Amino acid sequence: MSAVEAAPAAEAGRDFIRDIVAEDLAAGRVREVVTRFPPEPNGYLHIGHAKSICLNFGIAEEFGGRCHLRFDDTNPTKEEQEYIDAIQKDVRWLGFDWGRHLYHASDYFEQLYAWAEHLIEKGLAYIDDQLPEEMRAARGTLTEPGRNSPFRDRSVEENLRLFREMRDGKYPDGARVLRAKIDMASGNINLRDPVLYRILHASHPRTGDRWCIYPTYDFAHGQSDAIEGVTHSICTLEFEDHRPLYDWLIEHLPVPARPRQYEFARLNLAYTVMSKRFLKKLVDEGHVRGWDDPRMPTLSGLRRRGVPPETIREFVRRVGVARANSVVDLAMFDHAVRELLNRTAPRRMAVLRPLKLVIENYPEGQSEELEAVNNPEDAEAGTRHIPFGRELWIERNDFMEDPPKGFYRLAPAREVRLRYAYFVTCREVVKNAAGEVVELRCSYDPETRGGNAPDGRKVRGTIHWVAASKAVPAEIRLYHPLFTRPDPGGAGDLMADLNPNSLEIVSGAMLEPALAAGNSTEAVQFERQGYFCRDPDSGPDRLVFNRTIGLRDSWAKAQASG
Ligand code: ATP
Ligand code: MG
Repeated sequence: MSAVEAAPAAEAGRDFIRDIVAEDLAAGRVREVVTRFPPEPNGYLHIGHAKSICLNFGIAEEFGGRCHLRFDDTNPTKEEQEYIDAIQKDVRWLGFDWGRHLYHASDYFEQLYAWAEHLIEKGLAYIDDQLPEEMRAARGTLTEPGRNSPFRDRSVEENLRLFREMRDGKYPDGARVLRAKIDMASGNINLRDPVLYRILHASHPRTGDRWCIYPTYDFAHGQSDAIEGVTHSICTLEFEDHRPLYDWLIEHLPVPARPRQYEFARLNLAYTVMSKRFLKKLVDEGHVRGWDDPRMPTLSGLRRRGVPPETIREFVRRVGVARANSVVDLAMFDHAVRELLNRTAPRRMAVLRPLKLVIENYPEGQSEELEAVNNPEDAEAGTRHIPFGRELWIERNDFMEDPPKGFYRLAPAREVRLRYAYFVTCREVVKNAAGEVVELRCSYDPETRGGNAPDGRKVRGTIHWVAASKAVPAEIRLYHPLFTRPDPGGAGDLMADLNPNSLEIVSGAMLEPALAAGNSTEAVQFERQGYFCRDPDSGPDRLVFNRTIGLRDSWAKAQASG
């Protein structure tokens, strides 16, 4: 896909699903709105899930209803407790609460089994002994009808006996399945006698070895909704073709309620893959350092990268809820991150690639404290004191020996402002045997304390710095997109589009001492560089910071010029 823009943003927080809910309430079709977020615990949640979470929990909040968290745990071979725990943590972190409404499809295995027998008794389901490939071949195509299974007309008694034997473990995996008896000639392939139960001799994280047959997604989902009294079962567009089956099952089973399914467009982000299966592959094959690697589009990765949950909620709100699929520009996400952090993140000074600057006329052994503003966007954030001394670190690329036109930072014989401190002039450039600049010898003007000259003279450049004697060394991790294409896999091979340089490690950065205090993992702004947060790999004698995002905002620029 080449179009990279957001769906029309929801106006005043309204969208077609909220309209449906409002109408159902107004018409009295529904008394209390009940939604659910139904993740399969086969991986960690990603930012696409955040859209579904915000929609389901958001609607429940706005309309005074409730939202359930339900684990769709019907495939024990792929599901793990680790994922169940991580999903709960991530939903809470995003700012939502399911209260006592935590459920599992596996809570309903007995009921679902009973309903399967009910269908058999009504002649609406049968046991099929065909091999998987025979079943596939008989299913037909979009243009050709399917063929009836030779086992389709088994008697109710035989079907019941076989189904019970399946449950009792008499048959190996794949030997038989239970299928709904609907219509092999249906134009909708989902109605061509879909599988309702399969044999799977696998231990389940919750039900252990009690079951060796498991319901399919289609058989579990709508019925679970009905059991919980869900009124609006909101899912993504790929389930649209499953809706007739959803409705067929609800109609033919003695369920306690009649939920309705509604579909909306998934969130797709440029340069990003959102499929747990693929994200798991990245983790398993070691392309990233784990599910919470800050390069991952997972909620845990974004958290570790320093992205605040409010940002994700706001981004999802701006993307809106539409019925047509689209791909959202990454710059729109970045913009939301910067916008919030610009307002909230404390400013600090940090030098990523240090170059020594010595002030020759600053007395040896002397030091002082200078006052620095914590956040120019937030007067209440106050000020702090930063140490200053004779030896400082400045950013290597804030100096050029032979500056081109337009470079206003430090250069031989040039004067610049050290932020919050003094004017300094470069007097001498010291090089090593290889000819590399290793130190700058400067002078300062004591009259310019605080950053202004009493004689009114101006300097064009202001650079940041850290006092060498008090600086704290740190490792800085810079992240770049995981993929080199806006549409990863667009040329056929997803793995070939992995960006080999998505992680850049800068060791030996120098930070102002305030950054070593405390252990908050909230993002701060490194002045002139971007937003960074302390990584949990930090310890008592090791500091690691992640770059959340750089300062440059191409989205805001494009918006302004467009
Ligand atoms: P994945 O392909 O990443 O595994 P999934 O749809 O299989 O996603 P589920 O655990 O089944 O993952 O998803 C839980 C809910 O989240 C579903 O209702 C699904 O529709 C929704 N969801 C998943 N991905 C997105 C997305 N990119 N945008 C919006 N909603 C999503
Ligand atoms: Mg799924």
